[in-house]
Amino acid sequence: MKKQFAVIGLGRFGGSIVKELNDLGMEVLAIDINEDKVNEFAPAATHAVMADTTDENALRSLGIRNFDHVIVAIGDNIQSSILTTLMLVEVGVPHITVKAQNDYHEKVLNKIGAHKVVHPERDMGIRIAHNLVSKNVLDYLELSDEYSIVELIAGDRVHNHSLMDLDLRAKYGCNIMAIKRGEDINVSPAADENLKKQDILIVIGADRDITRMEQDLFDDDSD
Ligand code: ATP
Repeated sequence: MKKQFAVIGLGRFGGSIVKELNDLGMEVLAIDINEDKVNEFAPAATHAVMADTTDENALRSLGIRNFDHVIVAIGDNIQSSILTTLMLVEVGVPHITVKAQNDYHEKVLNKIGAHKVVHPERDMGIRIAHNLVSKNVLDYLELSDEYSIVELIAGDRVHNHSLMDLDLRAKYGCNIMAIKRGEDINVSPAADENLKKQDILIVIGADRDITRMEQDLFDDDSD
């Protein structure tokens, strides 16, 4: 059976989630207090309704507890975001993802029982900063304060070397999860796999180890 999603708040963030879920073939209920927003996103959603989700009766009458996953994408109005989240927790929605505006907002959302709190602007800022600092880092995903997954472009220093030669796990404590070469993806590559210039390596490790490895082996193309 298809998963049922509801997205509350149809700003840029909530709106893009609605569109993407719809493109992925999911059932999406789009909700906003503003009628223009509801009309704008009605074509992209399975249903679109106008409601103030801080009103408990309005929320219940939408049958919100029957949804598998509710995304709260109310931004500026932190009070509305918190109240809405609290009621979703109380009615027992199994998965609640909420967009936080700042660290205090995040703290409160975690305390009241949001299952996942996201900071799209902050996270995108971090990713872009990593990409700006080193052009060998294509993408960056923070797993915790210490650990990350990064995409690195292979340059001359690793060209034609096998993973065994480079011994990245022993020397840097980093694991290569996959290698992308053009359209091909080699997941869990074998130790005798030879790297080629322009390969994209998906690496998991501690931030300081990834940085060390990147400076030693992947910095040859930077200006
Ligand atoms: P983005 O950055 O994603 O564009 P934002 O952080 O600027 O969003 P807002 O525009 O403040 O966020 O809020 C997103 C949407 O949430 C708005 O369309 C707003 O009408 C809607 N919204 C705000 N309060 C409520 C509420 N109580 N019930 C339902 N929708 C609400």
